Amino acid sequence: MEDTVIIGAGPAGLTAGIYAVRAGLKVRLFEKAIPGGQAINTDWIENYPGFPEGIAGFELMDRMRKQAEFLGITIENKDVKGIEVKGDVKKVKAEKEEIETKTIIICSGSTPKKLGIEGEEELIGKGVSFCATCDGPFFRGQEVAVIGGGDSAVQEAIYLTKFAKKVHLIHRRDKLRATKLLQERAFKQEKINFIWNSVPVKILGKEAVEGLELKNLKDETISYLPVKGVFVFIGLTPNTSFLNKQLKTDESGFIITDSEMQTSVKGVFAAGDVRSKPLRQISTAVGDGAIAGFSAARYIEEMQ
Ligand code: NAP
Repeated sequence: MEDTVIIGAGPAGLTAGIYAVRAGLKVRLFEKAIPGGQAINTDWIENYPGFPEGIAGFELMDRMRKQAEFLGITIENKDVKGIEVKGDVKKVKAEKEEIETKTIIICSGSTPKKLGIEGEEELIGKGVSFCATCDGPFFRGQEVAVIGGGDSAVQEAIYLTKFAKKVHLIHRRDKLRATKLLQERAFKQEKINFIWNSVPVKILGKEAVEGLELKNLKDETISYLPVKGVFVFIGLTPNTSFLNKQLKTDESGFIITDSEMQTSVKGVFAAGDVRSKPLRQISTAVGDGAIAGFSAARYIEEMQ
């Protein structure tokens, strides 16, 4: 039997692994995609302490991965389909395997939300994108739209000015949600055109994005914006479908934990973006992961 199975190898999962293995636990760490989580898609990270000039998201996560592997953790490419959490022996179902474990640490992160409007699904990869770092360079010299008013939308709109001729930032209110520093930078950037109190209602184009239909929420008027790219940053949905509602969540579906990262089920911990919390950052994911790894070790010690 395993001591702990960690689900997800983003900053929370890698840190949980580092702490659990250093506490002497037998650890398995599963990741269904590339290790590093959403952070690998962030061009430049300026608010993770220890890197005064900032660091590329990919590099930071590569360093965390190497550190976990150096301590003896193997990151296994597995998609977890379900868990069973009743009793002292928990089960993790990953493809053809069913693993018995004393504890589970859920670090499955979150996925960008979709707008759910006409044209979005059909045009993903043909101009509709959820990742400026991945797709920004395709829009050199063109006009693009960014939807949202949070940190992601504003940070990625600034990043897109490296390539695009013009970036239209479309927000449903007349005030941004993003942190002040990012707002100030965006307001100074001449290539960014702010379109307030508006939402996209339709993405136009057949083979590729040709434009956006926008609705002004104040006067209900519809307008047309000719853009080749639509970058959607309207928040996050927690990756929890495999939990089958066995753990308590908040109204948005994020897992509720106590300060020890313990979920509503003893021996099951959650850390990082999947957890209900006020600030989703790499630094807070790392903090959660450290506590979760430590708490799993303490739980096992108390069981014995
Ligand atoms: P977020 O903070 O939840 O912001 C989502 C934005 O999208 C809000 O402005 C919201 O408008 C808007 N929105 C939501 N649903 C919409 C819809 N259906 N149609 C149009 N607009 C919609 O999400 P996020 O920006 O992805 O950030 C997620 C978390 O990651 C946050 O905790 C953030 O601080 C963190 N993050 C931090 C950094 C950084 O530190 N540099 C970078 C990226 C992300 P309202 O404002 O009206 O609600």
